[in-house]
Amino acid sequence: MLRKSSKFGLIVVALLQIPGCGKPAYFVAKEEPWRANEERLCLASGTIRNNPFVSARSALGGPAPCGAIRPLYVSAAVRGSVGLKPQATLSCPMVPATDHWVQTAVVPAARHYFGVDVVELQVAASYSCRPRNGIAGGRLSEHGHANALDISGFLLADGRRITVLTGWSGNVAERAFLRAVHKGACRTFTTVLGPNADAFHRDHFHLDLARHGRSGSVRICQ
Ligand SMILES: [Zn+2]
Repeated sequence: MLRKSSKFGLIVVALLQIPGCGKPAYFVAKEEPWRANEERLCLASGTIRNNPFVSARSALGGPAPCGAIRPLYVSAAVRGSVGLKPQATLSCPMVPATDHWVQTAVVPAARHYFGVDVVELQVAASYSCRPRNGIAGGRLSEHGHANALDISGFLLADGRRITVLTGWSGNVAERAFLRAVHKGACRTFTTVLGPNADAFHRDHFHLDLARHGRSGSVRICQ
């Protein structure tokens, strides 16, 4: 790993092997103290304490600067009412954010457009030490910090499954539900990317808590 100082702070260039791919890829990452600060604040707040659907994971194994102080396995949102399948590996701040999104956007939208509850979110990706969109030489993805969650579908209580890939241009209810869920995510997460963003996101919503802009107040909702 190379480290070099610049006017933007410490830049870290890491080489990593993409599993199953064989070719080494590399990414560029900035050292950003806000990440550890926000994670420590979240851990100290007690928000994840005594939640049987959130458990500590020992290590993430990726080369620095990937990982989190205390990575967590999360098997359900809102204290078990909506499952995450497969379970996600997330850092602490992503847990209350996911709960908030599910409670304020996903559950109400499912009741409104389908008349039933959502029982499960299909997780397409969570922690992954890789460059953005898997493109070598790019910035380290928020997934590398366990600060991002990709959701590709929603299982309803009556057994119906709504997927981003087909539902985004599906029937009236599917289209409206997915747009409501996407719009609602923009009230919770700082980055939300869906099928309108680019071809990489045609089959899932990418949700993360990155800081954008100098003040950290800029939001990306596409
Ligand atoms: Zn993603």
